[in-house]
Amino acid sequence: MTKRVVIIGGGHAGCSCAKALRHEQFNGEIVLISNESELPYHRPPLSKSFIKDETEMEFSKLSLQPENFYEKYNIDLRLDTAVSEIDPDDQLVKLYHGDMLHYDYLVLATGTRPRQLPLPGLELDGVMSLRTLQDARKLRLAMQKVQNTVIIGGGFIGLELASTARAMSKNVTVLEHTPRVLGRSVAPLVSDYIADMHRANGIQIETGVFINEFVGENGQVTGVKCQHGIVPAELVLVGVGAIPNTELADQAGLQCENGIVVNHSMQTNHANIFAIGDCANHQNAFAGERRIRLESVQNANDQALTVAKMILSNNAEQIEYKSVPWFWTDQGDVRLQMTGLSFDTSDYVIRGDLKSGRFSVFHYAKDKLVAIDSVNQPVDHMVARKLLEAGITPSKIQAADMNTNLKSLLAV
Ligand code: FAD
Repeated sequence: MTKRVVIIGGGHAGCSCAKALRHEQFNGEIVLISNESELPYHRPPLSKSFIKDETEMEFSKLSLQPENFYEKYNIDLRLDTAVSEIDPDDQLVKLYHGDMLHYDYLVLATGTRPRQLPLPGLELDGVMSLRTLQDARKLRLAMQKVQNTVIIGGGFIGLELASTARAMSKNVTVLEHTPRVLGRSVAPLVSDYIADMHRANGIQIETGVFINEFVGENGQVTGVKCQHGIVPAELVLVGVGAIPNTELADQAGLQCENGIVVNHSMQTNHANIFAIGDCANHQNAFAGERRIRLESVQNANDQALTVAKMILSNNAEQIEYKSVPWFWTDQGDVRLQMTGLSFDTSDYVIRGDLKSGRFSVFHYAKDKLVAIDSVNQPVDHMVARKLLEAGITPSKIQAADMNTNLKSLLAV
């Protein structure tokens, strides 16, 4: 009998999973359910080029697959459709408008939503967050009309938007609660480099800030009140992280804890239900087997492929998600690329010269290479990914020496 895979969520993970299933020769039915109105699209440009464009960029530049892809590969894409309930015993998903769908395999790719700050004034016009194309459209239009922009949160999305707004000649202030920007993701040295770069471009960055409320007049935000006073703002973008969408999984009795808990093969505690992408809490070898969620395109795509292989394999116990994590961010003239995870870092060396604006930081846990942050050094980044994949550690002397061809270590 024909098998049916139902995928909930039409983001990077869900769409990639549908594609990977066909690529791996799955001949059954694929139903891809998205509660958004647009064909699946790339989110990364939303905080970068999309906001800057004077006219909205053509959707074809954003869409993950061309319009005819879904028909060509016989993928039953249902837009504007939300799943309201899962019944794991009878293998059914219930749609908001009442229909029921049977599944043989279910893939949860429900992503995340922006974390909100439970502060007075959050409801004022001009206080925004960014996750979807709809959010980005609103933000783009608002940005064109204002001068004073405040970004709450010095993470990737906050800093990308800060540099986008600055490129549009806005007055930009970033308010970060912790002592440094990108604190959860990169070494202090890289945080300082990025903060200095933004400051040199005219962005105000304040760290260690406590925000009390958003203040406004006639329903419109006019400022952000912090411990040291009010920062004027006509537009406030709250970028303080994301919360995994686990409600469906919770309701279905799947194990959830900071995301939907899965094993190395992305299986939940129901063997035929998988979770992938931003919503999946998995044990990651590059994090010293810690349970983490990764919010990156790489993670979404690679976990999708793992699940497609699981569904098609006769030897499922051999299939594991073990890709090297990587991520990029574009801010001003800087492309920062990161690979590996630096949880256990005890030491680092720098390859290149900070002053030249092209360098990499090689992180070591004792004597093992665990992560590399590269600033405008795409070649280092690519080689570093391969070194981590192969489990090869250059000595600290080799990594720091620009005359060492790191690629040659791969040939050994
Ligand atoms: P999502 O893309 O969030 O997709 C989940 C989908 O499921 C959503 O459409 C959601 O509406 C839908 N859904 C949820 N519940 C239901 C339901 N009950 N029924 C139906 N549908 C449902 N990553 C990088 O690697 N590099 C970058 O530079 C980068 N920049 C980014 C910039 C922005 C502005 C954003 C928001 C993210 C960025 N990311 C970047 C992160 C990257 O986009 C995410 O990691 C990736 O989109 C995760 O894909 P996903 O499919 O897991 O989740």
